Amino acid sequence: MNNLPNQFKVGPFNFETSLNKTSTIIKMVSNTSKFYSSDYKKTSGLLWQELPEIFTCKCFNGFHRSFFEEVRDTEMAHLFEHIFIQYFCNVKSATAEVECECSGETVWNWDQDVPGTFFITIDVGSEELDNISKALAKTMVLFEKIVAKPEREGILFPDPEPVLVPVPAYLQIE
Ligand SMILES: [Zn+2]
Repeated sequence: MNNLPNQFKVGPFNFETSLNKTSTIIKMVSNTSKFYSSDYKKTSGLLWQELPEIFTCKCFNGFHRSFFEEVRDTEMAHLFEHIFIQYFCNVKSATAEVECECSGETVWNWDQDVPGTFFITIDVGSEELDNISKALAKTMVLFEKIVAKPEREGILFPDPEPVLVPVPAYLQIE
């Protein structure tokens, strides 16, 4: 597989990709107000289960927090960035002798864009198209698991409106 989808959707998030020789840019638009990992309670568990090596990556988040701490409450786009980079390195190191060097950055400007819009820039470009495509496909699968299957105890969707049950006649006080 070496086709990079220009547009795709995972759960409530829409993505657009573009790449040049040296970088890949992924725009993410959130069709939900829940664009923090704290809204998706399965995040850490699924990462431990499916991609535990992600916790060894470096994360420059400005708070000097490890990714292990960061992942509990970070932008879903930042999470997507880390998952993509980890899969990219996994795919790449399966075929190359050199150690994978790949980094990324997630930025947003909600004065300019709709809140929930993020831009992820990864510093690998068209020369790595094959690995990028493979990594993106894997990222979509894991991201889908994280966002698309709300658990009962999760808070992906708001609690249902309380149902007003009419008081049965025999309980009504005259
Ligand atoms: Zn990071």
